Amino acid sequence: MSVLVVGSLALDSIETPFGSVKDAIGGSAVYIATAASYFSSPIRLVGVVGGDFPRAGMALLEEHNIDLDGLEIIPEGRTFRWAGRYRYDLNERDTLSTHLNVFETFDPKVPDSYRRSRIVCLGNIDPQLQLRVLDQVENPQIVVCDTMNYWIERKNAELRSTLKRINILILNESEARLLSNEPNLIKAAKLIRGMGPEVVIIKKGEHGSLLITERIVFSAPAYPMENNFDPTGAGDSFAGGFVGWLARTDDSSEENLKRATIYGSTLASFCIERFGVDGLADLTYLQIQDRFRAFRELSRFDEE
Ligand code: AMP
Repeated sequence: MSVLVVGSLALDSIETPFGSVKDAIGGSAVYIATAASYFSSPIRLVGVVGGDFPRAGMALLEEHNIDLDGLEIIPEGRTFRWAGRYRYDLNERDTLSTHLNVFETFDPKVPDSYRRSRIVCLGNIDPQLQLRVLDQVENPQIVVCDTMNYWIERKNAELRSTLKRINILILNESEARLLSNEPNLIKAAKLIRGMGPEVVIIKKGEHGSLLITERIVFSAPAYPMENNFDPTGAGDSFAGGFVGWLARTDDSSEENLKRATIYGSTLASFCIERFGVDGLADLTYLQIQDRFRAFRELSRFDEE
């Protein structure tokens, strides 16, 4: 099934206790589309970059057969930039700076060839832009949305409008608390479901994630890793693995949503093993399957 991804394409400057990089290729759309490309095609991208976006970034997307007809390049513009620092506890991250640059005036145009995409994944980006993309697609089967504290705080009303039009919201635990004003995550998910999405997925970093629907709460572990270098993009890789699996299987039953959640966790685990997008760059489907199966062993036990 076809997947349309909208989100940021970025140059990220990241500091972790293990090292740092400057102007590394990143952005929500890059992580989501690359992760999803291991499962299904076509993956179609809508976004914008400036003339300074490196050739290696385009090559990464091209090598993963991502359709770039919806990518706008503004030669005289500067690409979106984000800088973040992780503390010793990699679950904690401080945003040092966010420069929207070309995103400040971006007006997304969905090419005709993308309008009938069956799954739409609204990556972390200004909720007004997410809405404008939704206005240009015809009856998508599933709309998945990711967001972050930056938009919950700055564009709350716009985000509420987006939420009314989506099926599945993916966000992390502090964002769920911020959006719902409720500390308990199960109650928070209930309140968020009342804002529109039927399904809420709450990511808890190295503590896994919760998939919450009207009827079930499914708790997925995170893969215990010794080599956890850089969590940047883990959330987006999760979203990419999740939508990729849904697109591959065309099945939105609760059982399959659980599998999609584990595929999301699988792609996130590969992402954090290396800096930036490197962990997603050259995986094989076999590697992904092996780790997916390893997840089953993580929490399987006998009654006696
Ligand atoms: P994650 O670690 O999955 O939450 O996503 C990290 C990616 O999100 C980085 O590559 C950033 O470039 C991108 N990002 C950070 N802040 C924003 C923002 N306000 N809007 C869009 N993308 C962002």
